[in-house]
Amino acid sequence: MSIFSNIICNRYEQKAIDVRVSNLQRRITQLGDKIVTSNFIFDEDNQTIRTELQLMAEQYDGRLVIVNSNYKVRSDTYKIEPAKSGSPETGNVYNISEEVISALAGTPSSNVVGDMVQLAYPIQTAASTDSTAANKNTMKDNQGKSNIVGAILLTASIRDVESTVNAMEEKTFLIIMLVILLVCLFSAWYSNVLVKPFKRVSQSIDHISEGSFEERITIDGYTEVINMAESVNKMINRVEQLESSRQEFVSNVSHELKTPITSIKVLADSLLAQEGAPAELYREFMSDITEEIERENKIINDLLSLVKLDKTSGEMNITSVNINELLELILKRLRPIASTRNIELIFESFRPVIAEVDEVKLTLAISNLIENAIKYNFDDGWVRISLNADHKFFYVKVSDSGVGIPEDVQDHIFERFYRVDKARSRETGGTGLGLSITRNAILMHRGAIKVYSKEKEGTTFTVRVPLNYIA
Ligand code: ADP
Repeated sequence: MSIFSNIICNRYEQKAIDVRVSNLQRRITQLGDKIVTSNFIFDEDNQTIRTELQLMAEQYDGRLVIVNSNYKVRSDTYKIEPAKSGSPETGNVYNISEEVISALAGTPSSNVVGDMVQLAYPIQTAASTDSTAANKNTMKDNQGKSNIVGAILLTASIRDVESTVNAMEEKTFLIIMLVILLVCLFSAWYSNVLVKPFKRVSQSIDHISEGSFEERITIDGYTEVINMAESVNKMINRVEQLESSRQEFVSNVSHELKTPITSIKVLADSLLAQEGAPAELYREFMSDITEEIERENKIINDLLSLVKLDKTSGEMNITSVNINELLELILKRLRPIASTRNIELIFESFRPVIAEVDEVKLTLAISNLIENAIKYNFDDGWVRISLNADHKFFYVKVSDSGVGIPEDVQDHIFERFYRVDKARSRETGGTGLGLSITRNAILMHRGAIKVYSKEKEGTTFTVRVPLNYIA
């Protein structure tokens, strides 16, 4: 606004001065004509012209000087010099300033100096029709040069233009100040309006951090705040989920760990209650107790594996591993278990695969899948393991001819301690942690795992892992 008003004021000032100068030029031209007609240059006693000169000087708050062609001042409204000879008020004063010289040479000039404008204009006779004797003399003096008989020098004040511009500047300054004040007030009010929803969001977040997960943020505001509130609500949902799964995990762990101990206690108590029990009974109960201890041990080991896998990927020990060899090794280890139930283990490899993986974690993940495929299979069934790769990933597929997983629980099988058939799982020594361990290990490799299954027909797990580890 300041720049704009400056430009406008400057333009206005320039324009007003131009108009004033052109007005003055017109007045001077008219005055020149009158001077010529009244022959004032040679007869400065003409009172009409004198009065007009005086009035004009007063009107413009300036000074009018008439100079003849010999640079002699014929009339000066300032009457600086006392009258000596010639003109009653100018005596023998000469004005040989630059402006007068160029005006007498026929070139008018106008200059703005401070708050004054200075015009120098030639006084020209109209052709040579004028036949006064004096005029003839002058014509002779200026032989053939021109019909310029003198010059008018006008210095006029343009203070009024300046004061108008100053008034304009003052007004625009006031307007600018007013606008700034309004903008400040508006900004203060509007920033308050903008910040208000955020205050409410942070209040809600404070409540939630104090532990009340029931609260959700409901805000009517502008889109950004609504989006933010939605994101925060999503985050709260996630935190709530995590919290409940944590609580569930803790209670599951205690329950799972307590079950074998309870069995051990029951077995031991019943032995103690029987006085003089036969050695065979002791042996039988002791072997049951050992089984329970083994189970407790397995749960603890699986839990430890899971806890390790829950940590950050900084724990990864990445090396270049031949996946074909890794799978062959797992199968070699599991073949004896499969053969006890006459389950056929088939390995199909479409190409040799070398990938950057954590060998221990990947072995654990794939072993769990193949173990499950054997565990949840029918006698004389089959398990097919296939390995393939493209330029980015390698794919391991573990299919079996087993019992399958009901469709409605397929989403849950990767949860910790989740077992479809608790009795069967327990029978086979399952802890419900195997698939969680597998999924965590695959996710740590930035891979993915999917399950396709049909009850009583079989199950297929597909695993996709990047060939190069992405940290
Ligand atoms: P578990 O120690 O009980 O085997 P997992 O986490 O490995 O626990 O598996 C979770 C559940 O998913 C198992 O209890 C089982 O019911 C089901 N499951 C896993 N793999 C298979 C499979 N190949 N065929 C059928 N059911 C399976």
